[in-house]
This record gives sequence, C-alpha cells and structure tokens, in this order.
Amino acid sequence: MDKSRIKKFEDILSKKREELRLSLSRSQEDRQEAQEFGRDEGDRATASLSKEMVFRQKAQERGLLMLVDAALGRISQGTFGECLNCGQEIGANRLNAVPWSRYCITCQELIVEQG
Ligand SMILES: [Zn+2]
Repeated sequence: MDKSRIKKFEDILSKKREELRLSLSRSQEDRQEAQEFGRDEGDRATASLSKEMVFRQKAQERGLLMLVDAALGRISQGTFGECLNCGQEIGANRLNAVPWSRYCITCQELIVEQG
C-alpha cells in the first residue's frame, strides 16, 4: 500500500481513537451523576436502565478502541492492510468501510462461521 493511502488511514484512525477516548472518559462522569439522582423506585429503575445501556455502549466502544489501537500499531509496524490470518491484502473497499479490519473478507467469514 502506498504511503499517502496509509497516511490517510492513520489520520482516520487517530481521529477515531480520540473520539472514543473522549466518549469513554465522559461516560465515567455521567455514571457518577446517575448514581446520585433519584430516590423513588421509578427513578432508580430509569437510572439502572440507562446505566445498563451506557455500560453496553461503553463495552462496545472499549472493544473498538482496542481494534483502532491495534490498527495504528500495524501502521507503525508496516503491516497495515494485511490480513492477520492469511497475510493477503485486505480489500480496499473493506478498509475504506472499516479501517480497523483485521482480516480479509474470506478469513472474516471463516472466523465468524467457526464462532
Ligand atoms: Zn485472510
């Protein structure tokens, strides 16, 4: 992959990483607030439901942050865009859609099938 393309992906990934970090640090503040509000049953239920949703969303964001971090690591190692399983180049369309893809489409499907 040529350097200008890699640079573009690096920019996208760095921005994504910042976004995720910001969102994750913000959510910790929200959670503290949620614990403090409301004393009756209804408020508690609402608070716990929104906590649950926040928790799930944050778990997803943390997972994504790990993928983005790993992709940036591969850029610095010069292996970005190669499938971690078979070493083939990951398709351009796939990388454009999901720059932190680890596998080519063939391996991804294999991995999903194997669970
Ligand atoms: Zn592959």
